[in-house]
Amino acid sequence: MTTPCPLCDPNTLPILWQCDQISVINAQEPDYPGFCRVIWRQHQTEMSQLNPAQRNQLMTIVFAVERVLIDQLKPDKINLASLGNQVAHLHWHVIPRFEQDRHFPEPVWATPQREPAPARKIIHGQLSAWLTPTLDAVWEEITAV
Ligand SMILES: [Zn+2]
Repeated sequence: MTTPCPLCDPNTLPILWQCDQISVINAQEPDYPGFCRVIWRQHQTEMSQLNPAQRNQLMTIVFAVERVLIDQLKPDKINLASLGNQVAHLHWHVIPRFEQDRHFPEPVWATPQREPAPARKIIHGQLSAWLTPTLDAVWEEITAV
């Protein structure tokens, strides 16, 4: 890569939770409170490049983030998406969706469907406080020997 990788600089990322292999960041999308990204910290671009244990680690964190967001926000749906066309890191978007959000039932990247009511604001520290105990616990569980 000729330009610095934006996902390798921890100072530029709104990190919610992190371990050696994975970062969970706040997507900071104003229309989508609670939108998180789960990022594999090494440069790997395809799920098939991870070994089974690594895949399990990544997806366990993705599903734990999903569960916390369901419990805290009671969304109508969670969208999970992995595209990764612009950065060299595998990452999963975990997006709480509501029937009256800006794009529902389309993907958040599609043409807006409506002007939504102002979205609930969730401060970064609150989101991190919701995620951290669960992610610490599942990480400890799956990495215990
Ligand atoms: Zn990078």
